[in-house]
Amino acid sequence: MEILQSAAALQAQTEIWRQNKLRVGLVPTMGALHEGHLQLVRAAARENDVVVVSVFVNPTQFNNAEDFRLYPRVPDADAALLGPAGCTALFMPSVEQMYPQPTVLRFDFGPLEQVMEGEHRPGHFHGVATVVSKLFHLSRPHRAYFGQKDLQQVTIIRQLVADLSFDLEIVAYPTIREEDGLAMSSRNRRLSAEARAVAPRLYQALMLGAGLAQEQAQTPEAVQQAVAEFLAAEPAITLEYFTLADAQTLQPLAGFWPRGRTVALCLAAHLGGVRLIDNVLVTLPG
Ligand code: AMP
Repeated sequence: MEILQSAAALQAQTEIWRQNKLRVGLVPTMGALHEGHLQLVRAAARENDVVVVSVFVNPTQFNNAEDFRLYPRVPDADAALLGPAGCTALFMPSVEQMYPQPTVLRFDFGPLEQVMEGEHRPGHFHGVATVVSKLFHLSRPHRAYFGQKDLQQVTIIRQLVADLSFDLEIVAYPTIREEDGLAMSSRNRRLSAEARAVAPRLYQALMLGAGLAQEQAQTPEAVQQAVAEFLAAEPAITLEYFTLADAQTLQPLAGFWPRGRTVALCLAAHLGGVRLIDNVLVTLPG
């Protein structure tokens, strides 16, 4: 596995792959890798000739400087995991490599980013779209891999690809969880023992909501209330939002269950200073 640290080195490598008609898969990450990331790398290795994994903690997508500073960074451990998973080239640029000058362009995804993560982390998806666009241009992938764990992110990236005619396919894979249901996340490393012990409640809350959504015995608003109450019973968890949304448009349900649609149950919560997100999908009967 090669380690590339400059944008120019990645571009030069990409050019050679393209000339040799090799199919390129890209897996963008912020590192502190876990099984959720590695399933994307393995899938990219199965479905392409070469795999680029980027490990870059992107400052422009953090709306909180402290969160950026505390984000886990373990480059040596990441590099050791990637070769065996099928990564061909690990791209680990510095901030200066990715942002030789401040960007001026602003991304605005309208209603897609006026809810959930976009609503609670202003500018977050501008930063995501900026860095992902740069990575697409530098690595010119045939396919790019993302996790369902960040449902709003993958929806917005599909919109980015459509709107800017990026010539590539977006591939999404399901959320990988710990045995107790907690969604794997690089941020889980920062949980205290006490917070880690109650963290599976987030998935339990989503499963409670999913069961109620499937039954459709109560309105979406009543389900929202039930899930919020379930989490309120755990003092170590502070719920930031819980939203029942149409999985495609991401718009919150209002008053009724849309027949035949897939509903996304999405939440963000704080556990002792660590912010976690998770979601599950439920397809309603037609
Ligand atoms: P991150 O390093 O957190 O920016 O994540 C990089 C990619 O891995 C994103 O596409 C995430 O959605 C995906 N990912 C993160 N955690 C998981 C997980 N538990 N299961 C599946 N994919 C994940």
